[in-house]
Amino acid sequence: MSEAHRPDEEALRRDMLRYARLCWERGWVANHDGNLSARLGDGRFLCTPTAVSKGDVTAESLIVVNAACEVVSGSRRAFSELKLHMAAYAARPDIGVVLHAHPPASTAFAVAGVEIGHPFLAEAVVTLGPELPVVPFHLPGDPALEAALGHALGKADVVVLDRHGLLSVGGNLEQAWLRMELVEHLARISAQARALGGLRSLPAEQLRSLAAKGRPASSPRLRPGPRAPEPQPLGRGRRGRGGPR
Ligand SMILES: [Zn+2]
Repeated sequence: MSEAHRPDEEALRRDMLRYARLCWERGWVANHDGNLSARLGDGRFLCTPTAVSKGDVTAESLIVVNAACEVVSGSRRAFSELKLHMAAYAARPDIGVVLHAHPPASTAFAVAGVEIGHPFLAEAVVTLGPELPVVPFHLPGDPALEAALGHALGKADVVVLDRHGLLSVGGNLEQAWLRMELVEHLARISAQARALGGLRSLPAEQLRSLAAKGRPASSPRLRPGPRAPEPQPLGRGRRGRGGPR
């Protein structure tokens, strides 16, 4: 996805408020946890501000930063994990957004040092691919963490940050949010399956054929907006609001 492609900034701002709020409503963040960013396509990035609950992010509080993590627009400060987002964008020129949160079930696995166990559901392999990498623990700001994240994002669109949380990428915020939602759902299923006696992996041969299809592209940069609904012929259901998942 080229930098020449300029997404609709107003639509991105609306999406950012929506998905920041959803992170808070789902209990994926507490206090000032979590952060969202989106490429504006001209070397700048729209971001949630630091020191604001994701339930209280307003249009006025959003900030714009440059690739050096300097605030170029807005009155708030940038969050401290911004370098991690920049490492994700550097590693993945195809992505438009980065979402980071601490969803409790997934984060419990990350804290316990237990792998969630993906892949154990076929549909999740189609959406996420066969891997759910764990990025080793490093102190915030350690360049080794950024390098490890970039490496992990070469294999998957959602990664577990050891003793920390999840980081998800996508073409747009809906896609990144749905990917993270799926991993959190898998973590809850995994915990219950373990309580019932354990996880059963998918058969190797079937897994190979599912994985061979590859995971969906991270696109488009914006989900179709509510202002321009596609007219639907009678008798044909809509195929979801977003792009590829
Ligand atoms: Zn965090």
